Amino acid sequence: EHIANQIAAGEVVERPASVVKELVENAIDAGSSKIDVSVEEGGLHSIRVTDNGSGIDPEDCETAFYRHATSKISQGRDLFQITSLGFRGEALPSIAAVSKVSLKTSNNLNGKGRQLVIEGGQLKVTEDIAAPQGTDFVVKELFYNTPARLKYMKTIQTELGHISDYMYRLALSRPDIAFTVRHNGNTLLQTMGNGDLLNVIAAVYGTGTAKAMLPLQGEDMDYRLSGFVSRPDWTRANRNAMSFIINGRYVRSYALSQAVLRGYHTMLPINRYPLIVLKLDMHPSLVDVNVHPSKLEVRFSKEPELLSFVEASVERILKQEVL
Ligand code: ADP
Ligand code: MG
Repeated sequence: EHIANQIAAGEVVERPASVVKELVENAIDAGSSKIDVSVEEGGLHSIRVTDNGSGIDPEDCETAFYRHATSKISQGRDLFQITSLGFRGEALPSIAAVSKVSLKTSNNLNGKGRQLVIEGGQLKVTEDIAAPQGTDFVVKELFYNTPARLKYMKTIQTELGHISDYMYRLALSRPDIAFTVRHNGNTLLQTMGNGDLLNVIAAVYGTGTAKAMLPLQGEDMDYRLSGFVSRPDWTRANRNAMSFIINGRYVRSYALSQAVLRGYHTMLPINRYPLIVLKLDMHPSLVDVNVHPSKLEVRFSKEPELLSFVEASVERILKQEVL
């Protein structure tokens, strides 16, 4: 009997990076301070996510794979009160429907845990095992039973690019979590989880970048700004090296990028881009993160004010440096 179906899986699982995202978000929701991601062949062969979080109660393991079984919305909570990353209860059933999943988990310090093996949505193994507290997911042969879907996968390099982009962004937004990312055994990213953003910037962009960064700070009635920005004479960044983290979440915003570039105006050589990791904290009512289901796009309720605040803060810090 299938405990999940393939059709709905397509909504959640588009490519290996979507599996990584869902598993890592679950690990974060479980309060993990250390999360290891290890993929083979761009994730097309296998994806492993290991965390040291709360673990799953052995009795709840199977139900976690039933569609909507864990939906936090069905528990009658208001959508706006949900602070965890996952709330639909769809990820695990969707992933398990289109791959071969092995789960090992323990929610206690007594070493007692549970292992589940699910292939194409069918439960193959469920048994008690010895396991450390935390969760270890292995997802193999993604889309092995949906050839039409498999055909749309790009090269290993492209799929890996989506995974590493996501993990770099996440690491920048969560310096408090120790992340490791490996591909075919090679370490692509390793952060310490000690809360130091400059350390993460060095891990993501290279050790030399740390010296080129100036600390950002600014505050007004509505917004608090922090992070790092590269000196105007440091011109090795490309246009993708602008990261925005709003209330702890990585977001995409063309408007914010433009505001930063205006802050640099005459100081930056033409066709050059700064490296910036800009953190903004504001009251949740000032930002709408639910514009797009991926939660990357945002809308600001006082956008003109925010943009001039950002522009002015960046400009002020750069001018101080030049003087
Ligand atoms: P959602 O995250 O939307 O609740 P998922 O299908 O992603 O739904 O996960 C189902 C449930 O399985 C989660 O709500 C959580 O209780 C449990 N779970 C999944 N992954 C982990 C993990 N790494 N650590 C602890 N619990 C987990
Ligand atoms: Mg989830």
